[in-house]
This record gives sequence, C-alpha cells and structure tokens, in this order.
Amino acid sequence: MNMNLEFERRLTIPMEVKKMYPIDDDLLDIVEQRDREIKEIFAGKDDRIILIIGPCSADKEDSVLDYISRLRRVQDKVSDKIFIIPRIYTNKPRTTGSGYKGMLHQPDPNKKPDMFKGIVAIRSMHIRALRETGFSCADEMLYPENHRYLDDILAYVAIGARSVENQQHRLVASGVDVPVGMKNPTGGDLSVMMNSITAAQKGHTFLYRGWEVHSHGNPYAHAILRGYMNKHGESLPNYHYEDLIHLVRLYASGMFRNPACIIDTNHSNSGKNPFEQPRIIKEVMDARRFSGDIRNMVKGFMVESYIEDGSQSVDGGCSGKSITDPCLGWEKTERMILELADMV
Ligand code: PEP
Ligand code: MN
Repeated sequence: MNMNLEFERRLTIPMEVKKMYPIDDDLLDIVEQRDREIKEIFAGKDDRIILIIGPCSADKEDSVLDYISRLRRVQDKVSDKIFIIPRIYTNKPRTTGSGYKGMLHQPDPNKKPDMFKGIVAIRSMHIRALRETGFSCADEMLYPENHRYLDDILAYVAIGARSVENQQHRLVASGVDVPVGMKNPTGGDLSVMMNSITAAQKGHTFLYRGWEVHSHGNPYAHAILRGYMNKHGESLPNYHYEDLIHLVRLYASGMFRNPACIIDTNHSNSGKNPFEQPRIIKEVMDARRFSGDIRNMVKGFMVESYIEDGSQSVDGGCSGKSITDPCLGWEKTERMILELADMV
C-alpha cells in the first residue's frame, strides 16, 4: 500500500458544480455570440485583431474585476478593430514546482491550498466577469481534468510552454470547442508545437475523468509564439519577421485547418520586461503590413497587463500588482490598445 499519497476527500464533479453555480441564459447567449465571433476571426472571415490580455495570474477577484471593467471601457472604443479576450489565469505552472500555484489551489494566496474552495472561487470569478462586463475570458488548461469546471464559460484556452508536449493536454484540446493556443515549448522547438496542433486538430478516443471518450478534433487549434530559452538560460525572442515567415512555411508544409498564430509579447519574447510589449506589438504589426502571409497568419497578441506596473512578492500587499510575472500597468496598457487600434 502506498502511504506516500493521501486521499483527502472526493470532490464534487463538474456537472454538479455547474448546477450549483449555473450561468443564466442571457449570459450563455453572450458566450455563444462571442464564440462565433472569435471563430470567424480565426477562420479569416473577420479582420479584427484578437487581444488576449490580463494579469499573469488572477490572484484576487476584486482586483481582477476592477482591471477587466477598465478593459470593457476601452473595448467599446475600439470594437471595430480589436476583439478583447481578458486573461483570467487561475492555474499557474511553476518552473521548480514551488510558489503560488494560482487561485484553483489557493483561493487566498497567503493561505494553504483548498481545492474545493478553489474550484468554486475560479468558477465564481469567471461568472462574475461575464455578468459585470460581458466578457467571456481566457484561461490556461494546466490540468486537463479540471477543464470541465469552466468549459461552458471560457472563450479561449491556452496550453502552456511546459505542457505542450504532453499527450493528455493534446487529446483533451482535441475535444475543446473554443480555439486552443499551443505555445512553443520553453526550449523553442517549433516541431513540438506543430505536432501538438496536428494532434489537437484530429479526433481521438481516450481515457478522461474515468470515462472512455471520443473527441472530434479542434479545427481552431493554433500556435502561440512566446520566445524561448537557450542552453545558457538566456531568453530569445521568436516574433521577428524571419520567425513569422518560418512559421508560415511550417504551416504550408502540413495539412492544417485555419493556420493561425498569436504572439505572446511577454515571457521569453520580452525577456520578462513587460514594458517591451508595446514595441513588440508595433514590430509584429509592421511585419504584417509587409507580408500578406504573415498578415493572414498572425491573428493577434497575448499581453501580460494589470493595474500596476511590474510585480511584487506574494505577500506584497499592493492590490492590482502581479504576484507572478511582471505586467504592464493600466495607463501604459490603455495607450497601447489605442495605438494598436490605429495600426489595424
Ligand atoms: C503564462 O501565460 O503566464 C505562462 C505561464 O506562459 P508560458 O506557458 O508561456 O510560460
Ligand atoms: Mn506569465
């Protein structure tokens, strides 16, 4: 008998949690309308730029709602040019396994983990964002088995750089019915990302949450370029013109539906200097103007932004300031979005 793993309690299944915390019909209509618009953009039938934007981690509901309400006001000014999907990231991968793991594990970042409270907290926060701002949002699918606690409400799902080579992430992504972005792995090997897109675009039979299930394939699985680390631990970007042309060719050499790419402007693309993000957007928009192939492929950006500039430690105490990766603060963010609208 394995004494190394304690089973604490059986958790309420997603179907029950959805009954306990349902989405009203009028909100469901918003989710469905937004899903249709996002798919049109990924399919090239709508030219607006997708902007997936928000804090690295959604650490506190009130700060996140404050931030997203600000996004709502800007969205209304640029709605003919930009389609905003706020980032509400509730699960955080940690490079060495230690540190804040996100609201799913710790509804209060300063208290010990409580998984059921975490499930309720993340669902409530996503629902509150939808109700108060009309935004369905993006989250990372760090733990595929938890996806169904939120699958009726998410507008966009990302598979992180540390998960993209994992079989279960690929199989579950193939059954997700909103666009799933596959990040390049931290080491930068684009074949890993392309294989992940190929796998997610196909249907599969697999084991999921104790069931044998069949997926039909996700035609909107696509690439996210986030930069990479070389063997000396240095950050290197992959958003430049040559990188984008390379990705255009990789897409052309395979059988992909809706070839698309989102540029993550932080992480290894900015060397985690969040203030580089507006410049990176400008450079990519320039590359888009120069090449029709790049223009067709690059559908938008993922930006790490919050109310305050930079980051702090978990117990820093400043609300609206990131406790994980450093973010672009609100003033600079608003300016960046308005400038982006002028470039579309
Ligand atoms: C993130 O988006 O905050 C993140 C953890 O990204 P990545 O998987 O690219 O490191
Ligand atoms: Mn981050």
